[in-house]
Amino acid sequence: MIPCPNCGEELKTVVSTYEVPFFGKVLLTSISCKCGFKHADSIVVETREPVRYTIKINRNNLFTKVIRSTSGTIRIPEIGVSVEPGPASQAFITNLEGVLDRIEGIVRTAMRWNAEDEEKVGRCRWILERIQNTLHGEEELTLILEDPLGNSLIISDEAFREIMSKEEAERLKKGLTVIDITGLNEEELLERSQ
Ligand SMILES: [Zn+2]
Repeated sequence: MIPCPNCGEELKTVVSTYEVPFFGKVLLTSISCKCGFKHADSIVVETREPVRYTIKINRNNLFTKVIRSTSGTIRIPEIGVSVEPGPASQAFITNLEGVLDRIEGIVRTAMRWNAEDEEKVGRCRWILERIQNTLHGEEELTLILEDPLGNSLIISDEAFREIMSKEEAERLKKGLTVIDITGLNEEELLERSQ
């Protein structure tokens, strides 16, 4: 048995594999405990090079699958949002709509926490509007997913995949998950939104 690092009880471990066409196997592991401790991650079994995926999000590809490992950084440059790996960050499988939902939730929380700051609230409103417009087909946003360990991916022919140079991979921030408008990390924001 593997003891829980939090309480010492036995951890529940789930490993599932996910077959990605033309790409190979992705291992998804999650461990959880009765006390609430949990951790999830994804590992690409076959190819593991620093990668960057770029895709235009529009109304017609919202169901495109996105696997973000704990080492993956998500950026949407048009709205200045980036979700970077943090010490407590979790892997997740979602789709492009799910990524937008997640960012929307974080921005809404940020808006509540900055209610007295008109400028920040205005910026949050502007971001929410860009997201809504994209969901409704009135505009497009660019999603960039970068992973120095090659464990994240976007499963779509529309996604442009490139191998990052070593220098680029090293430049990726590690250890912080921030939405630049708040200074709070993703976990703090998610906690406060619950
Ligand atoms: Zn525990």
